[in-house]
Formats: sequence, C-alpha cells, structure tokens
Amino acid sequence: MLRRVLSPLLIALSALALTLATAAPATAAPADPPQQLRQTVLYYDASQAAEYTSAVSSAALVWNHSVTSVRLEPVPAGLRAEIRVVADDGWPRAQLGPVRPGGQVTVWMGRQGTDAGHDAVRIAAHELGHSLGLPDIKPGPCSSLMSGSTGGVSCTNPYPNAFERAWVEANYGSGLTGQPVSDGRLLVDSL
Ligand SMILES: [Zn+2]
Repeated sequence: MLRRVLSPLLIALSALALTLATAAPATAAPADPPQQLRQTVLYYDASQAAEYTSAVSSAALVWNHSVTSVRLEPVPAGLRAEIRVVADDGWPRAQLGPVRPGGQVTVWMGRQGTDAGHDAVRIAAHELGHSLGLPDIKPGPCSSLMSGSTGGVSCTNPYPNAFERAWVEANYGSGLTGQPVSDGRLLVDSL
C-alpha cells in the first residue's frame, strides 16, 4: 500500500529534480521575492495571557504561516495592541473582528477550555480566528479550526482549513486596511 503511494511520488520528485537541474543555469540569478502588497500587521499583547503565553505565540505563528494578507506580531513596548489576550477562569471567548490597525478586540483564554481537556494552541488559534473575522463553524471536524470544541477533545489541530484561510485573506486582502472594527460581537466558546 505504502509502495503504491510512494512510487508515483518518487517518480514525480525525480522529474522535478531533473527539471530543476535543467533549469538551474537560467535561474542562477536570485529573483526578488514577491512583494507583499497591503499586508496588514496587527499587534497582539499576550502580557496578561499567564500560562497561555506560549500557546498564544504558537497560534500567532500558525496564522502567519497560513495567510499572507495579515500578520500577527507581538506588540512593541509603548504601542497599543489591536488584539489583547487575557487569561481568566471563564470559557474561551473573543470579540469578532476583523479588527483593523488602530482598533482593538479582546481574546479571553478562559481556563474552562483547557480544564475540559482541549488543546491550548488550538484554542488560541481559534480565538485569534475570531479576531480576524471568522465566526464559529460548529459543529465541524477537527480539520476545521473554527469547529472549536466540536472537533473533539482529542483534536489538537491549530491550522485553519482552506476555506477558513480564504475567508481571512478576503477580510484583509481587499484594501480595507485602516477601517474600524466591523463587528464587536462576543463569541463564547462554551461546550
Ligand atoms: Zn469560537
């Protein structure tokens, strides 16, 4: 079974290697990287995220690897963050974005989520998804980030699926940078 999958893959890789080797002289001069036009940078402040600080950082990196129209960065000292992340004893919840530069939404890393056994990075990525304008898409499978707790307590997938990525790209890729928060609804992720 594995062989049947691997053989076509190896053939494809060999063909690719051959193509690259053939094309090497033509591509010897390094090309400029494609410009990231209109990439929105949003600052997040995880200074009140307590034990979830590293989960929030990981979740921000997940988003940065998943979409190109918006980027999440730790807030530099003295600047105001667009996304505040606060740990508390409630359910994980967040204000619905898409938040714009200069606006502000809050994510609460409620401990009831991890107390119930859910993965902290998935929770953080899900709540940041709300900041970026994604609603809950429940019930849903583990492959969906916005399915939240309905993905199952054993689900540790922190990555948005193609549909969710495209939604965020649309939220930030259409030249709306600088506009105020379009929504501020509080979405509570209780079980
Ligand atoms: Zn949610």
